[in-house]
Amino acid sequence: MIFHAVTIFPDMFNMLREHGIVRKAIEQDKISVSAINIRDFAEGKHKVTDDRPYGGGYGMVMKPEPLIRAIRYAKSLSPLSRTVLLSPQGIPFDQKKAYELASLNGLILVCGRYEGVDERVCSDLIDFEISIGDYVLTGGELPAMVMMDAVIRLIPGVLGGEGSSENDSFSAYLLEHPHYTRPPVFEGEAVPDLLLSGNHKKIEEWRLETSLIRTFLKRRDLLYNKKLRTNEIEILKKWCLDIEKIISAQSVHGADTLSRD
Ligand code: SAM
Repeated sequence: MIFHAVTIFPDMFNMLREHGIVRKAIEQDKISVSAINIRDFAEGKHKVTDDRPYGGGYGMVMKPEPLIRAIRYAKSLSPLSRTVLLSPQGIPFDQKKAYELASLNGLILVCGRYEGVDERVCSDLIDFEISIGDYVLTGGELPAMVMMDAVIRLIPGVLGGEGSSENDSFSAYLLEHPHYTRPPVFEGEAVPDLLLSGNHKKIEEWRLETSLIRTFLKRRDLLYNKKLRTNEIEILKKWCLDIEKIISAQSVHGADTLSRD
């Protein structure tokens, strides 16, 4: 997959290109990541890329001419790519969107700065706008890198095992189960025995149940209106029975009205 970032700070993308899984994917030719400098398409001695807003007010706006030339250049390098403007006003980015984008041929990521880009850039050349969250950053470079990182790890063959991203949080509707590694006991806290048992069926069951528990406790919203699998419903029913047993035991003991402090 091909990625072109259109930016006034191309060096920022070295951070993404030079480390970890992204670097390996580039070395193995699974992806290419280039940063196109908008200033290279600006005119005059000072290569100005911004100007004052019509109507007055604070801040500067990215001028259309150099930006549009830079985007057109990116499109000429990669005609099948879709063009995305990073914007706090865009569609919220999530794991589902990341999967969707990972199936594309390429992405041109337009990084705004200042108060944003001249509206005429959006109407003409942008396929869609994406936001990485309801907060405002100083530029689109970090959002572009966040998106690229999330998309790149979903491209087949990029992660070590093909299935490595399958159980990730948000891949379905569950948060991922807890992880442990050596040593078996750390500062008095032991790894659950079951994980050392070698019983793969039981380990899978434990993973599913802890996934459900985590999702229920941390992000219950993910479970509403989802079609759960039969084994997941069975686990929830088991908890219901346990909770009912605990509550009905209270009528035998009588409710404790005293504070536990
Ligand atoms: N004035 C704009 C507004 O209120 O919508 C915000 C401009 S922001 C200071 C400058 C640039 O940072 C934007 O053009 C966009 O490219 C990028 N940006 C800031 N926050 C973002 C977010 N949450 N998601 C994606 N891009 C963002």
